[in-house]
Amino acid sequence: MPLKVLSVTSEAVPLVKTGGLADVAGALPAALAPHGVEMTTLLPGYPSVMQTVKRARAVHVWDSLLGTPARLLAGKLDGTYPLLVLDAPALYAREGAPYSDTAGRDWGDNWRRFAALGRAAADLAGGAMVKRGKPQRFDLVHAHDWQAAMTAAYLRFAPFGAEGRVPSVMTIHNMAFQGWFGAEVFPQLGLPGEAWTMDGVEYHGGLGMLKAGLACADAVTTVSPTYAREIRSATFGMGLEGLITARGNAVSGILNGIDTALWNPAKDASLAASYNHHRLEKRIANKRALEAEFGLDEAAGPLFVAVSRLTWQKGMDVLPEVLDHLAGIGGRLALLGSGDAQIEQELLKGAARHPGRIGIRIGYDEALSHRMLGGGDAILVPSRFEPCGLTQLYGLAYGCLPVVARTGGLADTVIDANPAALTAGCATGIQFDGVNYDSLAAVLTRTVDLFHQGEVWERIQKNAMKCDFSWTSSGKAYADLYGALMA
Ligand code: ADP
Repeated sequence: MPLKVLSVTSEAVPLVKTGGLADVAGALPAALAPHGVEMTTLLPGYPSVMQTVKRARAVHVWDSLLGTPARLLAGKLDGTYPLLVLDAPALYAREGAPYSDTAGRDWGDNWRRFAALGRAAADLAGGAMVKRGKPQRFDLVHAHDWQAAMTAAYLRFAPFGAEGRVPSVMTIHNMAFQGWFGAEVFPQLGLPGEAWTMDGVEYHGGLGMLKAGLACADAVTTVSPTYAREIRSATFGMGLEGLITARGNAVSGILNGIDTALWNPAKDASLAASYNHHRLEKRIANKRALEAEFGLDEAAGPLFVAVSRLTWQKGMDVLPEVLDHLAGIGGRLALLGSGDAQIEQELLKGAARHPGRIGIRIGYDEALSHRMLGGGDAILVPSRFEPCGLTQLYGLAYGCLPVVARTGGLADTVIDANPAALTAGCATGIQFDGVNYDSLAAVLTRTVDLFHQGEVWERIQKNAMKCDFSWTSSGKAYADLYGALMA
């Protein structure tokens, strides 16, 4: 009998994505299937998600789920894995983004939208859904980020049904997003008064959803071993470091993998030329195509790329400051991203100062991101903190060498080309410390120098492309964790 796990998430590719959480939640069912885990994904019924279950029959109905009618529709994720969609039109049938309206303002009732997701998940885990007279229970629940975190609180304080408690795992994809709301919403959550304590859902006088999940889940994971250590400190824990520290060994780090069906330069249809580590010379066709696409000159120096949310976390506020330096040392940059309006403006100004050297594309474009990794020489990831990070893993797979800040998952996945690693022949990229003008300028210079040592660079590219950051080992790590909790 497979272990039946309910994965509760507010995003999953290919149905809805704002960041790396979607990639991970979308990849987990396939990653866990080889390890005897049948994972069912529960998603809110946003318009994009409802498309896939348009013709589905309801498998469960709530007359009132935290005050609103709701039903559950069954479908398939990616045409393969069990999917449950929480259809509650009053909560999710809206134009805009998953968490905000078209003007970018957070929805005022996000507490209800995501507490309802947790309530529904706890009901399902406890056997609310009945098929041919038999309750369909789950062995374990895996909740992602603050949006799903209330699941663990409901399982602990207000479980559905009388059968044994269902264990839960809470994964933090980013500590910066905590789901913090006013105390006035507590009476509407349907939780007993005893939940309103420091060990429960109360956080600094309000409702802390991520905090509730961290306090109530049986195990807490985050998406890299280094980030799991970093969040014990105030800088990275963002107020929750005390709780993380108190949870001790219940907190661990499991790296994200990449979907090698989508991210494989040998089979990537979006590239002008596909290639593998034996045929690196074929990358040049992709580079020429990328230069043309961004209006950049052909030149001898490296072509840097960046694909990122344009935010402080990602260090993207510092990037505009180093553009003059980058162009001055013979580098070029093609950047794709969107986010902070001021950062966008500063980047565009930099591009205007350096035509043919700096190309900026504001927006979100999945296919273009593939072409950038296939044609760029190095990908810049100067994050101030990075729970795991995916773009550096794509960079490794594509031989577009990651130039990364030494933090979180970036520190765990890239081997810096320092003298020791170069001598041992194991370098896979470049790391630097501290996200500021001086450190960034210095690492750009270092990268340009390394690039001009053609054979050394090529060796690093080959090492990078041979790294296995597929889900193989991380899928097993999650399965082992589930197994330990079941035992
Ligand atoms: P985060 O989730 O913090 O944004 P990650 O590196 O974990 O950072 O994941 C970001 C994901 O979103 C990656 O798959 C990356 O390629 C993708 N991405 C980010 N910005 C863009 C963009 N402008 N266009 C296309 N893909 C993007």
